[in-house]
Amino acid sequence: MKQVRLVVLGAGGVGKSSLVSQFMRGVFNTFYEPTVEECYRHFLQLPDGNMHCIEILDTGGTHQFPAMQELNIKTAHGFIIVYSIDDAESFKEAHKLRKLVVNVKGTENIPLVMVGNKSDLAVDREVQKDEAVTAAREEWRCPFLETSAKYNRNVYDIFLALLNSAETCENRD
Ligand code: GDP
Ligand code: MG
Repeated sequence: MKQVRLVVLGAGGVGKSSLVSQFMRGVFNTFYEPTVEECYRHFLQLPDGNMHCIEILDTGGTHQFPAMQELNIKTAHGFIIVYSIDDAESFKEAHKLRKLVVNVKGTENIPLVMVGNKSDLAVDREVQKDEAVTAAREEWRCPFLETSAKYNRNVYDIFLALLNSAETCENRD
């Protein structure tokens, strides 16, 4: 069985914990409880039949512990970098986090997914989908998804896309 360690990164309040909670337990909470750091384990059978044991590290989003953040990045196999479509600042933060990951890993060949969460808040949209699609394709060279942790839209797909991307990166090594 494959062991995969995933880290969820993104500004505070973009919905990292909500995405993880929706994926792990099918539960959405409207309260905002800032996370320090939490680790979850999940078994997932991919459509190809392979079982994966995934460890998901839900990070706090604040960088009180840069050394810890670097260690988390070093030891991770894949990254979910989340922003919120109603928050342009969080999109900028996502770019910074992606740069940090590339620097720490020392390569751009990293399993990574760009996620624009809170797609249900389209009336308050500050990040255009086109802009994100282009950044993901041309800069990050990774899959992109808009999700709603609230309505469980595309949440499972994040993990599928990431595991697929992990296999592609492995084959490129
Ligand atoms: P984190 O700091 O990135 O872990 O963010 P949380 O998961 O704690 O979510 C922050 C706030 O945004 C909470 O009040 C959530 O209920 C809310 N939230 C998270 N995901 C969504 C979503 O997809 N849609 C909407 N409308 N709200 C969301
Ligand atoms: Mg959180």
